[in-house]
Amino acid sequence: MSSGAPSTSGTPNTPSSHNEQAGPSTRLLHAGSPRLHGGSGPVNVPIVRTSTVRFENTAALHDHHHRRADGERVASYGRHGLDTHRALEDAVTSLEGGHRAFLTPSGLSAITLVLIALLSPGDHALVADSVYSPVRRVDSTLLQRLGITLEYFSPSQDDLAAKIRDNTQLIYLESPSSLLYEVLDLPALTAIARARGIPVATDNTWSAGWFHQPLKLGANISIQAATKYIAGHSDVMQGIVVTDSPQLSARIATAYEALGLTIGADDAYLALRGIRTLPVRLAQHQRHATAIAEWLQSHPKVQRVFYPALPSDPGHALWKRDFTGASGLISFELSHSISAQEADAFVDALQYFAIGASWGGYESLALIAAPERLREHSIWTGTQPVVRLHIGLEDPVDLITDLAQAFDRLSGRERQRLAA
Ligand SMILES: *Cc1c(COP(=O)(O)O)cnc(C)c1O
Repeated sequence: MSSGAPSTSGTPNTPSSHNEQAGPSTRLLHAGSPRLHGGSGPVNVPIVRTSTVRFENTAALHDHHHRRADGERVASYGRHGLDTHRALEDAVTSLEGGHRAFLTPSGLSAITLVLIALLSPGDHALVADSVYSPVRRVDSTLLQRLGITLEYFSPSQDDLAAKIRDNTQLIYLESPSSLLYEVLDLPALTAIARARGIPVATDNTWSAGWFHQPLKLGANISIQAATKYIAGHSDVMQGIVVTDSPQLSARIATAYEALGLTIGADDAYLALRGIRTLPVRLAQHQRHATAIAEWLQSHPKVQRVFYPALPSDPGHALWKRDFTGASGLISFELSHSISAQEADAFVDALQYFAIGASWGGYESLALIAAPERLREHSIWTGTQPVVRLHIGLEDPVDLITDLAQAFDRLSGRERQRLAA
């Protein structure tokens, strides 16, 4: 960790997160592991819940205040978080390869934190049009009222340099996006921003920070919904913001404190517990999703499969260059003969896929992507309903059997419609 902050790890018998030579799994599993006291201690950091922080004397209190003012991650009040929070911050900072991490109550609050921290009245920001769609609601319900202008652009079709204005203060991206998985050319986009001194923030939820490290490709802030793969069990809401420099950390910290943001120690613990198994879970999500994406691609009722690890995906070349793996999200456009009602009936017929938003847990999910959301994406040229699947950790043969029976019912329904 380069934050200069005290780490919870680092004694000789807790292989430390400071060892940058260690492999990524080793670093992730040992980041933030607790110190031993009196010769022994638990493997996991305890859940430290508190509102009030007690001090030995007033000198200790003053010392804490000074160290906090200097940017050290020490707590003088419960809102600042104690050991559990520090350990999770260390783990996600290590995961993303950044300077400092901020923990927020949801992925969306992590996004809003960055927008509010870096934009002021009169400012302009350029936002990838494939962005997680609630960002547009933050824009219309909050930022516009504050006199901040977001402009949506197509990272693959527009010239970013030509869109930058004198008052452009942020470039906000997401790669791949969470519906059609457009992969962005991050090194090219960040080079344009860097030449003009404009910070780049990017939503890295899809890769969970494990398959992709945007800060190493020139982005300045990486955001994740830890709700998804980091927590990994569909049982916690959480966001993270990881910065690349002390300057940006200070700007984010100021807004974070002003907004009174914090998370509960229990939720920090759940995310820490999840992060220790992130590499194995993601390897399995990837293996199963790849098998299912390939199967879907050859199904006659499927027009097109969106999954960057497939050579047919438009983002495949960039994905291969900038990512080390693919997660469990697949979308597919149904074939021309299928109506919107039949698409709904297809999803209803699935047995193992729960119908619901979010993703990143151990379980499989299915959702129909609303056409109005797809139209916001400039790369969308289709006409048919799109189904988004999250491929969980079930046996892939069962998921394929399930999809096959739902397609068979779809064919039956179609035959009835054509015969009527
Ligand atoms: C889910 C999601 C978010 C928002 O996270 P919440 O924890 O649900 O608020 C942000 N970005 C992406 C890409 C997501 O998938």
